[in-house]
Amino acid sequence: MNSQASILFDIDGTLLFARGVGRIAFAASFRGAYGVEYPDIGAISFVGATDSGVIRQMAARCSVPNSPAREEHFFFLLARHLDAAMDARPPQIFPGVPELLRELNNRGYRLGLVTGNIRATAWAKVRHAGVDSCFSFGAYGDESEDRNEITRLAIGRAPEGGTPRLLVGDTPRDIEAAHRNGLAALAVGTGWVSLDDLTRSGADAVIQDFSDTEQTIRLIESVLEQTTVHPPTRNTP
Ligand SMILES: [Mg+2]
Repeated sequence: MNSQASILFDIDGTLLFARGVGRIAFAASFRGAYGVEYPDIGAISFVGATDSGVIRQMAARCSVPNSPAREEHFFFLLARHLDAAMDARPPQIFPGVPELLRELNNRGYRLGLVTGNIRATAWAKVRHAGVDSCFSFGAYGDESEDRNEITRLAIGRAPEGGTPRLLVGDTPRDIEAAHRNGLAALAVGTGWVSLDDLTRSGADAVIQDFSDTEQTIRLIESVLEQTTVHPPTRNTP
């Protein structure tokens, strides 16, 4: 049942916690690519953010010129710093996540990534967490700073026969991106947003964590059965 569906997953706060390596890597990469020290890296909020959005805000805050070339250099450095950092300090994968992803694969669901991480760090994070082989496509934070647009790109990359139906995430921005693109939204409380706030944000279902695989699968399949596929809402320019 529904095994022809694709399911999209956010990464940080949903599958894993990167244990703070991102913030340190952002500071070092900013210094390398933009030539200045960022004054207050601790104050940046990464929750539901995209890497493109964050770096543009950092450049604007420091009044340093930005360009596609600078961003490319920054993303290159970020990928190197993060990969090295995770060699020493692997991400903490949340309870039940490997079991859930493998069971969904076993049932025929195609799994994709929808993330604010750039492509290289998205795959590095799931590889260091040991679940990269569960995913077959995705869209990333170096392709757009707009999560709705990243979701739209991921939907277009789903394998043939795997119609995207559901997005799983940990913030109101994930829920909005799902609904703007005609997907159902399952919100999980392993990130930094309370279940109450996720419910108020319009999630089709909420769950505290994925520690009980059977319960999570039942919830996912009931959401898929109860929701119909709506045509995507096109982003306004
Ligand atoms: Mg997240």
